[in-house]
Amino acid sequence: MENKSEIITDDVKKVLQDAFRQLRDTVVIEVYTKEGINDMFNDFTVGLIKTMSELTDKIQATYYKIGDEQSKKRNVFRSPTLLIAPDKYNIRYTGAPAGEEGRSIVMAIIMVSTGQGILTGDSKKRLQGLKEKREIKVFVSPTCPYCPQQVLDAVSVALEKKDLVSVEVIEIYENKDLAEKYAAMSVPKTFVGETLIAPGLKPEEVFVASVIEGKPVEYVMPVGREELREYDVVILGGGPAGLTAAMYAERSGLKSIVFEKANIGGQIAITPVVENYPGFAAIAGKTLVDLMAKQAMEYALVLQGVGVDDIKKLNGGFEITTLRGTYKAKAIIIATGAGSKKLNARGEEKLAGRGISYCATCDGYLFKDGKNVIVVGGGNSALTDALYLDSLGAHVTIVHRKDAFRAEERLQQAVFQRNMPVLWNSAIKEISGGMVVEKIKIEDIKTGQTKDIKADAVFIAIGYEPYNDIAKRLGLALDEEGYIKVDGKMRTSMPLVYAAGDITGGVKQIVTAVSQGAAAALTAFEDIANPYWKR
Ligand SMILES: Cc1cc2nc3c(=O)[nH]c(=O)nc-3n(C[C@H](O)[C@H](O)[C@H](O)COP(=O)(O)OP(=O)(O)OC[C@H]3O[C@@H](n4cnc5c(N)ncnc54)[C@H](O)[C@@H]3O)c2cc1C
Repeated sequence: MENKSEIITDDVKKVLQDAFRQLRDTVVIEVYTKEGINDMFNDFTVGLIKTMSELTDKIQATYYKIGDEQSKKRNVFRSPTLLIAPDKYNIRYTGAPAGEEGRSIVMAIIMVSTGQGILTGDSKKRLQGLKEKREIKVFVSPTCPYCPQQVLDAVSVALEKKDLVSVEVIEIYENKDLAEKYAAMSVPKTFVGETLIAPGLKPEEVFVASVIEGKPVEYVMPVGREELREYDVVILGGGPAGLTAAMYAERSGLKSIVFEKANIGGQIAITPVVENYPGFAAIAGKTLVDLMAKQAMEYALVLQGVGVDDIKKLNGGFEITTLRGTYKAKAIIIATGAGSKKLNARGEEKLAGRGISYCATCDGYLFKDGKNVIVVGGGNSALTDALYLDSLGAHVTIVHRKDAFRAEERLQQAVFQRNMPVLWNSAIKEISGGMVVEKIKIEDIKTGQTKDIKADAVFIAIGYEPYNDIAKRLGLALDEEGYIKVDGKMRTSMPLVYAAGDITGGVKQIVTAVSQGAAAALTAFEDIANPYWKR
């Protein structure tokens, strides 16, 4: 990188200049580098911070060499390292804030300058109970769309409790030894001290509670908001379908609650950019979902981190079992979406996140330099992942059950042009390794013969499966792929149970999910008032 101050384009500079108008207090950033270690990333980091400090006089950057007095004073040994406002806060980026982390560093700077994090009032109240020191480490990669959110929650905690909480954002590729030590092959992964508190992105209140406890916490009680035990409508899933259903149900006068077992927003929370949602030419998935969630929460109670474990049909209603006890409802809307299919191979569960991944863009970066990676599948996702990993420099082998791909022709051509080895008619039987993936056992489906192959990672892209556990427990009619069968008004085979969004199969898009969520709620209203099965 010849010209270090030309690290970002003029368009991005304009966006940054606008963003930096929010800066209030001057933010001191100390940049530490050492020649010969991660040089490319050092150049990027120095160039990025230089450019940022040229765009605003509210960023004051100073540059140090690792080994000099200042670096010893600050305990900086890794190159590159960034300290943000080190005399006031304990916020450290170990590794370049590149790719997705570009977003987090810009937000972190704004938060430090304004003293305003992104935590809700409830989380801030909870943090008042923290009395001990906490060292948070968030492992990230530049291609992980989930990571910035976890980093910003952690930075917000450090702002709130500046004397007790430190945050280190560790980029796994530049700090492979740390990634290996903490088995952080899948990101984000968050530790308090040496204790893993969050494998994957956690809902804010669960994350904050885990930091306070210093160990993983499964769910938290909401602060302040009235919580009933009986509702007109219970909604499963806080993705676009569930959130929209809640809004429409409450606006029809139905008392509603949304249970979301993981993060509000469902799949869009991890979509970098949405370009096909009417009204927005391009919008970050997280921003879109924040807007939807804010609007839904103005109407209904949305409990994040609380999954529905069981539903029983009672006489004249339903009993819903969750981690937080039981609830009653007149009607149910199932909007539980869909997720990546598992291989169900031996060792898959044990090594998930330790070289087994369902998101190549999140976790591929660590394997970029000639590592042996296996991509499983033959559809568009698998071939896109294979091409992406190949372009990073990984040695990719594709394993596919059939003797032909079903992906689009142009993807197939690209794969063949790059001469990627393909193991046809093959199935992975076992993935093994100590702390991380080391080898896989492959069966030739036609001959039944097996062989072992050395592998550093396995990326599984064999499609999506509906989250239909509850639908099965209720005995709802499902199609052959397990999606819930619905009629045009989102009614399922059971009166007063409705389904919306990806769980119904079909066009798996946000517009479909929101329209079905609205329809499900309006039909529930219609049926509660005037049961069609009694007419
Ligand atoms: C990487 C990616 C990019 C995408 N890009 C686009 C795009 O650009 N445009 C577009 O229109 N669509 C896009 N999609 C598809 C879109 O995100 C989905 O169609 C949409 O999110 C479906 O909404 P949903 O509410 O039905 O389900 P989801 O978004 O899947 O939400 C379902 C929620 O239910 C929760 N849940 C599951 N089981 C339970 C339970 N038992 N109890 C409580 N909660 C439960 C889950 O945790 C989840 O949060 C993309 C998807 C992905 C993965």
